[in-house]
Amino acid sequence: MFNQPSQSTDIRRIAVIGSGLSGLTAGIRLSQQGHEVRVFEKSRGPGGRLAAKRVEGGSADIGAQYFTARNPAFLPFLKEFAGENAFQMWQGRFGFRNERGEWDSFPDEPRYVGSPRMTAITRALSAHLEVIAETRIGALRKAGGGWSLADTEGTALGEFDQVIVTAPPAQAQVLLADSDLAELAAVLDEPVKKVLPCWAVAVHFAKPLTMAYEGMRVEHPVLYWVANNSSKPGREDSGQWWVLHANPDWTERHVDTPASEVAKLMVHAFRVLTGVAGEPGDVVTHRWLYARSSDGDQPGHLWFPDQNIGIAGDWLSGGRVEGAFNSACSLVEAMSEDR
Ligand SMILES: Cc1cc2nc3c(=O)[nH]c(=O)nc-3n(C[C@H](O)[C@H](O)[C@H](O)COP(=O)(O)OP(=O)(O)OC[C@H]3O[C@@H](n4cnc5c(N)ncnc54)[C@H](O)[C@@H]3O)c2cc1C
Repeated sequence: MFNQPSQSTDIRRIAVIGSGLSGLTAGIRLSQQGHEVRVFEKSRGPGGRLAAKRVEGGSADIGAQYFTARNPAFLPFLKEFAGENAFQMWQGRFGFRNERGEWDSFPDEPRYVGSPRMTAITRALSAHLEVIAETRIGALRKAGGGWSLADTEGTALGEFDQVIVTAPPAQAQVLLADSDLAELAAVLDEPVKKVLPCWAVAVHFAKPLTMAYEGMRVEHPVLYWVANNSSKPGREDSGQWWVLHANPDWTERHVDTPASEVAKLMVHAFRVLTGVAGEPGDVVTHRWLYARSSDGDQPGHLWFPDQNIGIAGDWLSGGRVEGAFNSACSLVEAMSEDR
């Protein structure tokens, strides 16, 4: 059974780099098999691109907006390890706007969100693991048959039999190159080129806006997605927080534009797009350099048995939240079969 612990006879020390959904999934599945797992995360807390920013009255999801659960193993995993209360279905209306400005509804499909914020899921998952936060892994050095890890200051962080890297491809490539693993780093040349950036803005409206949709995917010169974050279950905002994502081309052209200027341009575009008359209030911004992968041809995971290094992440399995889960599961399966 997928979610049942299966104790293996050889216990390995395994380091997982990154505590996004793929790192946490891999960590939990390997711990379930009896291995000693330690997760390293460069940021203050777990979550990666399942991210929320504190805003007045609550928080706004500035990374992933919702997720699907087409893999029948995904929801049972979340229920077991994050708990039933960490996520809920988002019963919103979702629309797509084409280049000609015509609107159509999204196909019916359950869409889920963390509750009361996206990071509720990864916080709960991380409680099952030892997560060392604020620790950016700078290099792996050969130690016996395994690896010794060091942070970017060169501080030694222990020895491990195997290492799983779940950073986005550009960050994974730097880590591998700095670890004298040029051949492995070269495997990521193409994936690095296919990751797209995204400027994200959350903007508050004291007076709720009336819209036909809670979530809108738009073909637009500036915007890619806009959503009423306050319509997600578990949010108790006064007024409404709207989350706006810029499209990759516009983001690329504005990658070095100051955040305050980006916010102005994106909020203006939102108001023109929707005809919103209400005055915007507080704004928060976030620049994602590595938001999504445009690659359609993905192997699920990468496992290098000679080096005892595995790579997992959404970009190896269709992008998106569920892809991160799928990638981690397929890597763990490959590692288990390899013994
Ligand atoms: C703006 C935006 C909107 C999105 N919208 C959706 C959506 O609506 N639906 C959907 O399904 N998906 C969406 N996604 C994609 C979704 O967020 C990702 O697919 C998923 O969260 C990726 O998980 P991951 O674990 O593979 O990677 P990440 O979440 O990126 O995790 C990688 C982790 O590795 C850490 N790390 C990197 N380098 C190091 C290092 N050297 N040492 C230690 N730690 C390191 C990072 O800090 C990070 O926490 C969106 C993403 C963005 C940015």
